[in-house]
Amino acid sequence: MKTNTPLATTTLHDRHGRWPQAESTEDFRRNLTAVHARIAAACQRVGRDPASVRLLPVSKTKPEGSLRLAYGAGCRMFGENKPQEAYRKWEAMTDLEDLRWSVIGHLQTNKAKLVARFAAEFQALDSLRVAEALERRLQAEGRCLDVFVQVNTSGEASKYGLPPDEVATFLRQLPTFSALRVRGFMTLAVLSAEAGQVRRCFVLLRELRDRLRQDAPDGVSLDELSMGMSGDYEIAIEEGATVVRVGQAIFGARSTPDAYYWPSATAENNN
Ligand SMILES: *Cc1c(COP(=O)(O)O)cnc(C)c1O
Repeated sequence: MKTNTPLATTTLHDRHGRWPQAESTEDFRRNLTAVHARIAAACQRVGRDPASVRLLPVSKTKPEGSLRLAYGAGCRMFGENKPQEAYRKWEAMTDLEDLRWSVIGHLQTNKAKLVARFAAEFQALDSLRVAEALERRLQAEGRCLDVFVQVNTSGEASKYGLPPDEVATFLRQLPTFSALRVRGFMTLAVLSAEAGQVRRCFVLLRELRDRLRQDAPDGVSLDELSMGMSGDYEIAIEEGATVVRVGQAIFGARSTPDAYYWPSATAENNN
């Protein structure tokens, strides 16, 4: 249910690189409370239940000590962009038995083995080769994996994800992979401070989902929309996000520039 007045929510990209470092459990508690309050406010603007939005804390580049503090503040799942870094952290933290891991970055087939071993969720599925590699490794491990199909909604050639017009065909191949439980779509919006451009990416993903959900193949559920990060999660929620992936607003700014993760990120966003 939408309000009639256009939403004027701005991006928080001006804070990029300036989020204060969380250095204690108390810092993490405060940051999590602040993010949850903004999630609730965004939900209220469009008549959604805040319980319909999952906050996924993104811990990439942050040291194990930091993750342990976040765990102490209540985090039970972390999102990591690079499979090897995620695997290393998982190995170091197996003492935290209820901690789960979501891999949210591009995967090469030769790293499927790692992901199959420890991840609970993989949000960046964008090729049949990766689906095949994961299926084989998951079968060997006797495990299943929740997956999100990554869609390129910004049209930038350097971004990962399937072009929107290839998603329907891709989905039809997925039921053959019995260890992959398809949950929905994931996207990265254009990294722009322009709220209108960012919102357009989220609208595109939601509309694609609404259209394809009507005749989704058996066993493929498209309930989830993973979209929105520190700079734009409020807009994503207004457009239907069920998962927001938030790093810097919880952990503090990263020292690694975004261009390291997303080839298309420009200097403008890395100040
Ligand atoms: C790093 C990352 C995020 C979180 O970005 P922040 O700006 O730290 O909130 C979200 N999604 C993906 C795919 C990422 O790699």
